[in-house]
Amino acid sequence: MKTSKKDSKGKRPAAARTDSQRRQLLAGLACLPALLWWNKASATTPLVCDVAVIGAGVFGSWIAWHLAQRGQQVVLVDAYAPGNGLSSSGGDTRVIRMAYGPDAIYSRMAAESLTQWQKLGQALDARHRPSTPLFHPTGVLWLSRHRNGYFNHSLDTLQALGIPTRVFDSPSALQRAYPQMDYHGIGTGFLEPGSGALAARQCVRVVAEEAMRNGARWLQATAAAPEPVASQKGERLRIPLRTATGPAQLLARQAVYACGAWLPKVFPQLLSRRIVPTRQEVFYLNLKAVSAPLAARYAPARFPVWADFNDGDVFYGIPDVAGYGFKIAHDKHGPVMDPDTADRRVSEAAEREMRAYLRKRFPELAEAPLASVRVCQYENTSNGDFLLDRHPTLPNVWLAGGGSGHSFKHGPAVGRWMAELVTGARTPTHPRFTLSSKDTTQKRAVI
Ligand SMILES: Cc1cc2nc3c(=O)[nH]c(=O)nc-3n(C[C@H](O)[C@H](O)[C@H](O)COP(=O)(O)OP(=O)(O)OC[C@H]3O[C@@H](n4cnc5c(N)ncnc54)[C@H](O)[C@@H]3O)c2cc1C
Repeated sequence: MKTSKKDSKGKRPAAARTDSQRRQLLAGLACLPALLWWNKASATTPLVCDVAVIGAGVFGSWIAWHLAQRGQQVVLVDAYAPGNGLSSSGGDTRVIRMAYGPDAIYSRMAAESLTQWQKLGQALDARHRPSTPLFHPTGVLWLSRHRNGYFNHSLDTLQALGIPTRVFDSPSALQRAYPQMDYHGIGTGFLEPGSGALAARQCVRVVAEEAMRNGARWLQATAAAPEPVASQKGERLRIPLRTATGPAQLLARQAVYACGAWLPKVFPQLLSRRIVPTRQEVFYLNLKAVSAPLAARYAPARFPVWADFNDGDVFYGIPDVAGYGFKIAHDKHGPVMDPDTADRRVSEAAEREMRAYLRKRFPELAEAPLASVRVCQYENTSNGDFLLDRHPTLPNVWLAGGGSGHSFKHGPAVGRWMAELVTGARTPTHPRFTLSSKDTTQKRAVI
């Protein structure tokens, strides 16, 4: 098994981490020429806009896109770059699936979002923009011991929404369709043939660039919480900024804070226990290093994205859609993590756990070498419902976050939702997205 050397605590060495972080930051910077950089804000001559969107992850980028489409003057601000390596959106790939058990609201949002992701991809193709696909239609395979409530609710909802599914009522039916897996203890499954994987980091960069094409402006800066101001011109908020060249400020009528795992840092009193970042470790296996036929057996054309309920201890994976490797992850909340200071080396314990799962379900992959690894954070609300609501005391300030490990796919629908709230086209938000519905004790419910 080829892996980089580890120290006595089972961590990979700091030099390796530094290299990988450097690569991530360079990858983030690759989009700079495509963006209109606007770094003229200073403490004395502030930038002025209708809406400041703070955070260029999948939420902020789509919010800026939708607001710019509606003719709002938008400034999109990020401390680094869209889809940067520290952000939750900065991964290589993310699953887009429609099934959400009893939570039909997310099935509807996922369906709307898939259409929008596809439209965006088609628009780029029409402009002959050289890029790898944003969406890979691999299908998504769900697996479980029994036909449980989650399966039944999902199938009912998808049928009502007109989303095709293919049900496998026995392990032998699964075996015939996908002989790659060991179905011991699995009794049933279903496939969403139209779903698949999104090229996450690339998607975010493209959406941010498209927001710029629609007229949004870009600012690289770290923003603090806003302060209300009285202004004759109608600007109501002053947003203190820290840029590479010193302090600056942004004046805006409204602001949307879409800061992912940093939201509790910007609004500590309000959110420190309502959004809890947790450490998540992801592995990519290099199947080609084992053999070309093995890699071919798990290629996207022959094996889909999959999620195994595994009696409540969910594992999921994505085939090698763009040379990243065969992705596998344990969908269990890890320890609380600080997105700025966390050690992003994977732990030996997580790799052991992943390989134990492989031995059970994919025995021929159990010793496959790693192509790469990644440590990232979920930004969890108490039950997994998003936070898309007005700030309770700061006028004209909006909060968009709490993606809770499942929000990437929903970027387009969340962007529309927030743009409608900000422009007054929707009021109030959905009861499940309110701040008041967010508890301070973690009880994960949305899967
Ligand atoms: C390992 C892993 C696997 C996942 N898998 C899936 C999946 O398969 N499918 C799915 O749908 N979802 C998945 N998710 C969840 C999804 O990726 C996240 O919920 C989503 O990306 C969150 O987006 P965001 O825009 O809210 O936050 P982020 O992407 O974290 O963006 C926040 C941005 O705000 C910026 N920022 C923060 N503070 C400031 C400040 N003060 N000033 C300026 N900028 C600031 C940051 O630099 C960052 O760019 C996964 C998450 C992880 C970690």
